[in-house]
Amino acid sequence: MRRGASLDTKLVLGCMILLALSLALALGLITILGSEHARASRNLEALTLYRKVLTAANRLSAERGPMNSVLGEEPAHDTAARRKLAEFRSLSDHALAEIMPDADSGVRHLVTRDRLEAVQLRLAEARKAADRLNTLPLAERSGADIQGVITGMFDVVETMRPVVITAMVELSERDSALAGHAMAGQMLGDLREYAGRMGSFLAPSIAAREPLSASAHDELVLTHGRIVQIWQSLERQLALHSDAPKLVAAVEETNSRYFGAGLRLIAQLTNEGKSGRYSVTTEEMTLQYVPSMAPLERLRESFLDDMLAHAQTSRESSAWWLRAVIAFTVLIVLTNLSLLLAARRRIFRPLLRARDHIVALAEERDLDRAARTGNHDGEIRELFAALEILRLKLRERLRLTERLKVQAETDALTGLLNRHTFDRLGQGDPDFDDLPVETGLILMDIDRFKPINDTYGHIAGDTVLRAVAALVAEMVRKNDLVMRYGGEEIAIVLPNASLRTLARIAETLRAALAEQAIPLGDGTELRVTASFGVATGRRDGQGWEALIEAADQALYMAKAAGRNRVGIAGEQALAGSVPVKPSRVA
Ligand code: GH3
Ligand code: MG
Ligand code: MG
Repeated sequence: MRRGASLDTKLVLGCMILLALSLALALGLITILGSEHARASRNLEALTLYRKVLTAANRLSAERGPMNSVLGEEPAHDTAARRKLAEFRSLSDHALAEIMPDADSGVRHLVTRDRLEAVQLRLAEARKAADRLNTLPLAERSGADIQGVITGMFDVVETMRPVVITAMVELSERDSALAGHAMAGQMLGDLREYAGRMGSFLAPSIAAREPLSASAHDELVLTHGRIVQIWQSLERQLALHSDAPKLVAAVEETNSRYFGAGLRLIAQLTNEGKSGRYSVTTEEMTLQYVPSMAPLERLRESFLDDMLAHAQTSRESSAWWLRAVIAFTVLIVLTNLSLLLAARRRIFRPLLRARDHIVALAEERDLDRAARTGNHDGEIRELFAALEILRLKLRERLRLTERLKVQAETDALTGLLNRHTFDRLGQGDPDFDDLPVETGLILMDIDRFKPINDTYGHIAGDTVLRAVAALVAEMVRKNDLVMRYGGEEIAIVLPNASLRTLARIAETLRAALAEQAIPLGDGTELRVTASFGVATGRRDGQGWEALIEAADQALYMAKAAGRNRVGIAGEQALAGSVPVKPSRVA
């Protein structure tokens, strides 16, 4: 795998791990908050139902009020008390129907169907007994009968009590945090019920203007004790709700109105009950006592309101957190993905391209082509701009090096390779590693060159030199190396050539030069000849010196034999025509 590819893979992998971790965290949070939300929803639902149960119990107690009034009036069809009784009865029925679970409901319910049906049955019986008594003229209703009907209604409330208590226990079992609320709600209901009973215990005796019976007296004392006890426990629980102003106000009002005026009235009437001489009628007692219970009603309502408001708030806050975490998770995922994409497009891909470009520069590839930079800003753009400058500089430097190398190897006057290059040939220079070791060498020396200089001047001599060099360079093969060996001496290195070939080539050159008329530029043309020495040998170590020596020897032989001829190393025979003096052609 390429390093670049692995870098990109690592980025993707890193982002994926980050994504997986944040998703795991989010999922954990969502699960916790989800179950918290579900719990809060269930609690709210259960508390709503519990409130309805308490309301139903309260309605059953409240039904006694108008019933007492109807029991105290002559039979009639349509009185205010009767209308009120009918209204209260329908409210009770409605409240009971509302908490009646569906027959086929598989859901665990706070109340059970048969318990409620028992309440309904008892209620129907109590109402029937009351209605029966109400058809009799007032004079025919005895205190005991009235007491019996009232006790029947007490029984209905007693039958309802297990329903309330079961619902309370059920609620506490579902969530222990609700236990306190559930209990306080039930106790507030009891408080209202017992307060109501106090009036009911007194009413028959006051109506009959007779002393309190011993049992009624006992009930009054017992119920008073219960009320005080309940209130003591409740006050502690209600103190926890100091942040609900309505509730605090209701507590204060209950203390002053019910536990003040209300219970004082009951105590006074209980005391009067010893003699049977009461300072008020039932009607007057009702008018004074019932309003003192109103704060109890308000207290119950505001407590239940506060309880439901708390449940509602905790449900809303859990829903809010759930939504917030989901939104946050989506945000994290999107940010992560867009970071990944942006990092790949804006950083990684350009960096990998820059890397390829730098590698190419290091290997001196593609120096003439500008890199594909793409459309970037900031640091990446600067990086590519710097790379482009680097490329141009590198290209310039390579051209300069190239030129210097050519200059270092070339003779300025003739354009041939120079003596330095000739020497490097025999020194094992790696530049010539491609050339075979076996090689032929032709040395040529222009005949009687000095007189040319002397006669026509040094400039003319240079012109002749250039012309001779051009002729030789043109006539040899591409692989042969032509070098200016000395002042007017030229060396030609011919790889792998045999002595015969060398002799033939040298002879061809000799003949061609002899034929060539060299214009001096001033209209004068000169003809020159040269002598040649050829030899073969090796380009390594001692071989090179020996080869030069042999070729030099052969050249010397050609000069000695009269010039304008080819000397072959190791042979006496010389090719070439009769020596001629350098001469003017025309
Ligand atoms: P020979 O036939 O024996 O070779 O006679 P020659 O006159 O050519 O003798 P030699 O080779 O000794 O003379 C070389 C002359 O070449 C000496 C020098 O003035 C001349 N020479 C060497 N280099 C240059 C050059 O670069 N330009 C010019 N114009 N003359 C040069
Ligand atoms: Mg010479
Ligand atoms: Mg010469």
